[in-house]
Amino acid sequence: MSSLKCEGKLDFLSVEHKQKLTTHFCKSGTKVMPHELAIKLGTTRPEALAIITVLGTEGLSKNQLLIYHQCDPEVIADAIPFGIGFPDLPWFCPLCEEIVEDYSELSFDVMAIANDPIEFI
Ligand SMILES: [Zn+2]
Repeated sequence: MSSLKCEGKLDFLSVEHKQKLTTHFCKSGTKVMPHELAIKLGTTRPEALAIITVLGTEGLSKNQLLIYHQCDPEVIADAIPFGIGFPDLPWFCPLCEEIVEDYSELSFDVMAIANDPIEFI
């Protein structure tokens, strides 16, 4: 069990938020995306993204940038480590096997994968 001291980093979290987060992250390998976390906690999506970013910078989760192509916007086409920027163009889509030359064809999301169970304090 790892612990994350939220004070000074995620000051918008209430005691109830921290309890919900601790319950959610009770297993190693827990995956979460910002929109799911925002719904679960009743926070805004930017606040949920802030939680995920802090988990990554504190070494508590591996964060991935998920890449979606317009050929199937519901399916994750690829994932790269979050924080190194966007994929290089031209980018090869493994779903439709087309070469993508424009970021406008792509959309992105973030996923955190917890390394250990996390207690939010
Ligand atoms: Zn594609």
